[in-house]
Amino acid sequence: MSSHRWSLDTQAVALGRPAHAAGQPVNEPITLSSTYRAGADLSYARVGNPTWSAFEEAVGGLEGGHALAFASGMASISAVLSLVPHGGVVVAPHHAYSGTTGLLADLSASGAITVRHVDISDSDEVLAALALEPVADLLIAESPTNPMLEVADLPAVIAAGHDIGALVMVDNTFATPLLQRPLSDGADIVIHSATKYLSGHSDVLLGVAITPDTEVGRDLGERLHSHRTSRGAIPGPMEVWLALRGLRTLSVRTERSGATAAVLAQRLAEHPAVSRVRYPGWGSIVAIEVAAVEGRTAAESAEAVCERTHLWTHSTSLGGVESQIERRRRHTAEVETVPDNLVRLSVGIESLEDLWQDLASALDAN
Ligand code: PLP
Repeated sequence: MSSHRWSLDTQAVALGRPAHAAGQPVNEPITLSSTYRAGADLSYARVGNPTWSAFEEAVGGLEGGHALAFASGMASISAVLSLVPHGGVVVAPHHAYSGTTGLLADLSASGAITVRHVDISDSDEVLAALALEPVADLLIAESPTNPMLEVADLPAVIAAGHDIGALVMVDNTFATPLLQRPLSDGADIVIHSATKYLSGHSDVLLGVAITPDTEVGRDLGERLHSHRTSRGAIPGPMEVWLALRGLRTLSVRTERSGATAAVLAQRLAEHPAVSRVRYPGWGSIVAIEVAAVEGRTAAESAEAVCERTHLWTHSTSLGGVESQIERRRRHTAEVETVPDNLVRLSVGIESLEDLWQDLASALDAN
């Protein structure tokens, strides 16, 4: 049976394995070698590595294109930005991941690009920003956004980008290919911080960029590959092996943490210490705003909740099996339109009732 007829759940388990032949290992080994014996196409490990190829086959299958592993999510975003001509225009969400927003600000300050920020959930605003003269070269559609959880109408904004000749990159980190497959909506490039759900255990930094199997997609893939090689934006084989191992359980992790997040979002909406809940109705991230209590600002009240939890880990990042909690504005790099009492919850796979008890008692103490 060919893999394209398998469900995505199955592909996450089955793709990127060594050949089905007697005596072959079941898992792709970690290839720790900086060079290869002469005489074949692959000669040096900055260009390629068999462990990367196994991971790339699996992620490429899940997203429906060809994948390239990068040193981190930011390395994959940098590679995509290298496709924008000098002085070109990039349209991006106000509330994209703060690292992305920071990189765009740096490139804009140096004159390399012009950035137009939009509410990515407002397709009319996105369309207007794309079409303004000079028209945009690249649309970055992070959806849902980190940490405000705005959701883009991907088919609409991708079509609008293509109408004016822009490339469209979707940051699919929060959704994963199990919940959203932007290449089937026409996106030119999908990227992930594979640090998050794809690897799923908070033990690696890794990025990946996926391009479709079309003429344009293959050309983009070659340009991204060439960027990765020449800039050396490559991952370590150990990280990639760990990510491939983590990817095997993506389906059960997504199901479990998503079901828990949906219940937590409902319960949180009824908690008196919570003034607002943001949850798109799917996925494993919930953002809450914590109400101010007497003698404390809302930001201080939010920070106090994060410091009181025992099971929820007070730390940055998301997408691991362990639940994480963080007030985003504790980072000065976070955009100021993110409310300073907003707490991002990355729901893991622990028991729902244990998570609720820990969170509710941290909120009750406010
Ligand atoms: N994109 C999103 C949505 C993220 O949340 C992050 C990191 O948090 C990144 C990109 C950057 O990824 P990395 O930290 O792997 O470089």
